[in-house]
Amino acid sequence: MAFEKDIFFINEALIEAKKAYECKEVPVGAVLVFEEKVIARAHNLVEAKQDAAEHAELVCLKKGSVYFNNWRLLKTTLYCTLEPCAMCAGALLLHRVERLVWGAPDPRQGAHGSWVDLLGIPHPFHTLAVSSGILEQESKTLLKSFFQSRRSSS
Ligand SMILES: [Zn+2]
Repeated sequence: MAFEKDIFFINEALIEAKKAYECKEVPVGAVLVFEEKVIARAHNLVEAKQDAAEHAELVCLKKGSVYFNNWRLLKTTLYCTLEPCAMCAGALLLHRVERLVWGAPDPRQGAHGSWVDLLGIPHPFHTLAVSSGILEQESKTLLKSFFQSRRSSS
C-alpha cells in the first residue's frame, strides 16, 4: 500500500485519538481498513468502562469481527496512533490481521520493541506485516499535551 494511503488512514486513527482526548481518555485511536475502506473505528475507553483492556486496538478488532461476523480479520490493516501493547499485539495475531501500522512508540507498554518485541519474533503460523512511526510526531504531541494538561489540572 502506498505511503500516502498510510498517512490518510493513520490520520483517521488520529481523529479517534482526539475524540478520546475530549473524553479525558488517554488519546489513542485506531481504525481497521479492508479493501481501502475504514470498516471499524475506535478509541481508548479504559476510563469510561473502568476496564484496562478497553484499548482502541482491541475495541476496533471487536467491531471488525462484528462487521464480518467472523473473528478472522483476513486481509485487513489496523492503523493505530500508538505502538500496541502486549495484549493488543496478541489480539492482532489471534484475529489474523494482515498488517499493522502504528504511529508513536510506547516506552512503557510497547510490544513492538519499545518494551518487549512480540511482533519481532516469527509466529508459528501467522505473519503480521508492520510499519511504524507513521505520523509519529502528531501522535506524540497529542499524548504529551494530554498528560501535561492532566498534571496541571490535578
Ligand atoms: Zn493495547
